[in-house]
Amino acid sequence: MSDSAVFSKHRPTHPEIAARFPDLHPPFDKQSATVESNRCLYCFDAPCTTACPTHIDVPGFIKKIASGNLAGSARTILDANILGASCSRACPVQVLCEGACVMHRYNKQPIQIARLQRFAMDALHQSGAALPFAPGPDTGRSVALIGAGPASLACAAELRRRGIRAIIYETRPLPGGLNTYGVAEYKLPLVESLREIEMLSGLGIDFHFNERVDREMLVHLEREHDAVFLGVGLGAIHQLGIAGDQLAGVTNALDFIAGYKSGAILTVPQRVAVIGAGNTAIDAANAARRLGATSVHMVYRRGPEKMSAFAFEYEHSKQEGVQFLWHVQPIGIRGSKTVEALNLIQLAAAVDDSLIPLPGSELELPVDLVILAIGQATHSAFLAEAGSAAKIAFDGGRIVIDRATGQTSHPKFFAGGDCTNGGREVVDAVADGKRAGIGIAAWLEVQHGRQ
Ligand SMILES: Cc1cc2nc3c(=O)[nH]c(=O)nc-3n(C[C@H](O)[C@H](O)[C@H](O)COP(=O)(O)OP(=O)(O)OC[C@H]3O[C@@H](n4cnc5c(N)ncnc54)[C@H](O)[C@@H]3O)c2cc1C
Ligand code: SF4
Repeated sequence: MSDSAVFSKHRPTHPEIAARFPDLHPPFDKQSATVESNRCLYCFDAPCTTACPTHIDVPGFIKKIASGNLAGSARTILDANILGASCSRACPVQVLCEGACVMHRYNKQPIQIARLQRFAMDALHQSGAALPFAPGPDTGRSVALIGAGPASLACAAELRRRGIRAIIYETRPLPGGLNTYGVAEYKLPLVESLREIEMLSGLGIDFHFNERVDREMLVHLEREHDAVFLGVGLGAIHQLGIAGDQLAGVTNALDFIAGYKSGAILTVPQRVAVIGAGNTAIDAANAARRLGATSVHMVYRRGPEKMSAFAFEYEHSKQEGVQFLWHVQPIGIRGSKTVEALNLIQLAAAVDDSLIPLPGSELELPVDLVILAIGQATHSAFLAEAGSAAKIAFDGGRIVIDRATGQTSHPKFFAGGDCTNGGREVVDAVADGKRAGIGIAAWLEVQHGRQ
């Protein structure tokens, strides 16, 4: 049975969370959006469109804002990117569309593409209009999608537009994957992610929540459906594997972020250490500051030049008041019942770039909460044992796909998003899901002929 109605009542954001995580980039009002849209040069062969993984016709949607055709603008966005609303809030545009804007060549501010995109999408949501697409005529074919993250949602939308049934199975009680549970609340509030998916579900996607697909179920789904799409994302955060890492007061960034976004975590203790230096670590550190920690240290084995977080995210976290401890490695966590201190040792880089602990350089950082953000595991083990899915090829834990169609080495299985690219951005997962939806439809047509 479908659970589509489960998320139809939007979960109101906890007032405490709403107050602490206001919009990082406030929306445009009508006048500002009109002024900004008129700055666009409407380039032919627009580099912003090329730089967008979903290839939204950026000049096209901006021109429609300039002429007051907001519904047409939203349609142009959605035609290329069915999660255009969440992407307008979550995309790291500095390294995508806005980074490619020709205005940079003239030493001018790039066009604020994401804020304009949000303006058009917000207008559509506020108008109460339905998604401007209808499901295609029924083909009698069906596809099971594992995971309700951006990759599966984008794939499901393409399938439904082609008259193919899309049935999504999701472990969690709500859809959206990391869009709902991971992206920082000051970028994409949980409630906005749900609002967007609710509109999308108008295409007739079937959702089954609280349903973890295990090996046996995957075998069953393969038998029951014409194809299977794997949009399972990445797995749990790695453990540290040092003394004390099971103490109360040690958590991981995914649980921590999902906890505050859903209103289950409203405050943190005074002193927090975040271990890692990627974008997830930054998000956790910033959130800890906003939830009341007076001292938040990010702890990393190398220097700032090696951190995997975007440079603009690093700058942002400094403004949030996060402090950094470089070239140190945790060697233990001290505490009786709960965490009291993080034990660290300084590291030096050898000629071959390996890291060597410096004897006698141990130090102790008093902390009340330790948040691990040292990378996520993959789901390769689960898939490698699931019946004929075991034939799916992996490379370094990532599912290998044909990038044009999303097809894996097992013809009936397709995949996209973080489980295939090792963890990138929402817009990459949407682009993958879209390609796979089109790829599945084309493959089914070859297998069964046009319906
Ligand atoms: C903390 C954090 C912050 C981020 N912030 C940003 C950001 O600001 N901007 C940006 O563009 N990107 C951001 N990203 C990256 C972005 O969220 C991901 O790239 C994107 O969500 C990947 O989509 P996906 O569909 O591949 O996977 P996911 O979003 O991870 O969705 C996978 C879904 O599959 C479900 N699932 C897994 N296994 C099973 C199973 N066996 N049975 C049923 N369901 C299953 C999971 O519960 C999950 O809901 C962030 C990532 C993290 C971790
Ligand atoms: S989806 Fe993201 S990358 Fe693409 S145009 Fe919109 S904001 Fe830019």
